[in-house]
Amino acid sequence: MPTMEGAARRELVCKVLALERGKAFADTAVLGGLEGFVSQHVPEAAYLVAGYAALDPAARAKVLDRLQSWLDAPPPERPREPLSQVPVSRAPGVGKKRAELLGRLGIRTVEDLLTFFPRRLEDRSQLRPIAQVRDGETSLVRGVVRAKSRVKVRRGLELIKAAVDDGTGFLFAIWFNQPWLWDQIAQGERYALFGKAQLRYGEMQLENPVWEKDGTEVQTGRWVPIYPSTEGLTQPVLQGLIRQALDRFADHVSDVMPGSIRKRMALPSRREAISRIHLPENPQDFERARRALAFEELLVLQVGIAHRKAPDSAPGRRLDPDRALLDRFVGALPFELTPSQDRALRAIEGDLRSAHPMLRLLQGDVGSGKTAVAAAGCVMTVSAGAQAAVMAPTEILAEQHLLVLQDLLKGLPVRVGYLVGGIGRRERQTILQAIADGEVDVVVGTHALIQEGVAFRDLALAVVDEQHRFGVIQRAALEAKGAGTNILVMSATPIPRTVVLTLYGEFAVSVLEEMPNSRGGVRTTWLSESRREDVYREVGALLARGEKGYVVFPLVAESEELDLRAATEGYDELRQRFPDHGAALLHGGMSSEEKRAAMAAFRDGPVRLLVATTVVEVGLDVPDASFLVIEHADRFGLAQLHQLRGRIGRKGQPAVCYAVADPTTDEARERLAAFRDLTDGFKIAEADLRIRGPGDLLGTEQSGFVSQLRAADLARDLGLLEKARAEALRLAADGVPEELAREVERRFGEALSLLGV
Ligand code: ADP
Ligand code: MG
Repeated sequence: MPTMEGAARRELVCKVLALERGKAFADTAVLGGLEGFVSQHVPEAAYLVAGYAALDPAARAKVLDRLQSWLDAPPPERPREPLSQVPVSRAPGVGKKRAELLGRLGIRTVEDLLTFFPRRLEDRSQLRPIAQVRDGETSLVRGVVRAKSRVKVRRGLELIKAAVDDGTGFLFAIWFNQPWLWDQIAQGERYALFGKAQLRYGEMQLENPVWEKDGTEVQTGRWVPIYPSTEGLTQPVLQGLIRQALDRFADHVSDVMPGSIRKRMALPSRREAISRIHLPENPQDFERARRALAFEELLVLQVGIAHRKAPDSAPGRRLDPDRALLDRFVGALPFELTPSQDRALRAIEGDLRSAHPMLRLLQGDVGSGKTAVAAAGCVMTVSAGAQAAVMAPTEILAEQHLLVLQDLLKGLPVRVGYLVGGIGRRERQTILQAIADGEVDVVVGTHALIQEGVAFRDLALAVVDEQHRFGVIQRAALEAKGAGTNILVMSATPIPRTVVLTLYGEFAVSVLEEMPNSRGGVRTTWLSESRREDVYREVGALLARGEKGYVVFPLVAESEELDLRAATEGYDELRQRFPDHGAALLHGGMSSEEKRAAMAAFRDGPVRLLVATTVVEVGLDVPDASFLVIEHADRFGLAQLHQLRGRIGRKGQPAVCYAVADPTTDEARERLAAFRDLTDGFKIAEADLRIRGPGDLLGTEQSGFVSQLRAADLARDLGLLEKARAEALRLAADGVPEELAREVERRFGEALSLLGV
């Protein structure tokens, strides 16, 4: 049978559409339903009718309208290049100026435009009679403009006012500084208007409402997609451009996900999902499309990660740790290991014994005991005759690690060395020589460890504390100081599982689940600045009882001088107020010596009040500290706050944290409330992700990378991510289809190599 000509097929479908209308959209015009019919005869337009059978008649009517206009104006031939190479200026409605504005949103190609997804939907579907419009409520009304006026209120403020009447009553639509509307809003015409109603001077007003001619049903009368940011383009303009681009290009969108996976996951095609997310009928429709796109995106990313993980990279080496020494170490600890510390330790031992280089992330809440695990890793490595290095992001932290490790390792045949930037030349020469000769077994330090001129005799384990503060390049540099070096990354605070799978997808993970010292617990209160006096009265009482603790001031680079002054002034005040408790000051601008002296005085006496800038945020391990005042707590990130709080109550004694803050933004209020109410680090991390997105949680490189995700939401999509990962691993084992591999490279290639994952 000869295949039907395009025109004939279209005509046939047009007839069926007319029939379907005649049957009041009952989906009975053709046997088997309209969707199947259209898919068969004009597959290019199938995406328009996807899910038709499940829609209600009103929605079906709209689908048919859209299909009809598609049939009336069939899209032109397929562009020869993939959409990712078609410049956005070739999209309908995009001239030079708009191309430039779109460019500011990162939209350079037609593909970018089609994958600029809305964040959310706004319900503009509920029509309200004007008589029922209430002050403060967002409302959709429809009515005739009876009169309009324009008023210059003052220089630079002009308003246009239109009286709208729908038979039940009237109200005023008001637009500020949009003079062009004067010619667009016509007296006697019917409009649909959507906006927030406000009762002013006895008039009901809609201020700057979204409007369109009645019957248009694009900006109103439906769920309308809202785009994240429009940079000089209005929402309607952007929506219009995307709509036209869809009409013109949607059927050139091709799938990147293997069909078998799409089937297994029961997801719509990429083409359909992209159309739907921009033109959803309702929130369910939107979410279905979003999930499909998110899954695809996560799959592409996970394939990239799985691909790079391929163990063919660096050849590892088997170490043979001495169990007896490890047992001696564990036996000498002043505490019993928690079950998950023990598990982590066994996992590390297994990694060291295996021929593949270890790549392990050690996660646990502040105070969960990561250091002891790292120390055990060092002991195992050293007992096998090799060296270990521990790299921390700051000197203060490095010094803390040094002290703790020296303490944990005393009595064992393990020699610990220290290498930071701030040591003298002679001292440096000595330690470099010792590292090269293998005279030290464990070297604790900062970036100084990865400088040229540092050569290990035999580095086999690199412990990297707070990876997110280092670039990956630095991790790699440390790794390169040995051959087949085993890597143990410690994160200072817990990371939500979605982020771990995304950024540390190739890592094995050990989680320290229980807190060794959680008996007393830390009580957290959040007080307004007006109650600062009360806080310090309580601090006075605590000091009088013999307790010790911290007062922390924020310090950020942008306002460093001011912040430092505030901290210093705060210190002067407190020193005068509590003269008997030897307040000391600690901040990043002090010399290593001064810092060391301040810390020692606080740890071993006589100082019981340490006033500090954010530099103490991590690492300070003074177990008997039991109170903490955080000044301007609204200026700290949630993870940072939690880190700070982890500095007190470390022996399990009861402790108290005062967050002093008058936050000015909703986000800051949410953050402080979460800080006050949550104590579990993983819950905190998830809240952080929800409130702020990944930015606060990660280093800049990492968060830049995560922000490349367009549809996936790391605060919500754990389930999808796990499935995507499973599929990606399967693909990696069976061979990644070439098209998909290209897509990985195109979308995430650069980011993945920057991240080094
Ligand atoms: P973090 O995970 O924040 O790095 P640390 O390793 O600094 O935690 O440990 C916090 C405190 O808990 C330290 O004082 C440490 O000596 C102690 N600690 C670690 N493990 C245990 C344990 N199993 N039982 C009791 N105390 C422990
Ligand atoms: Mg620690």
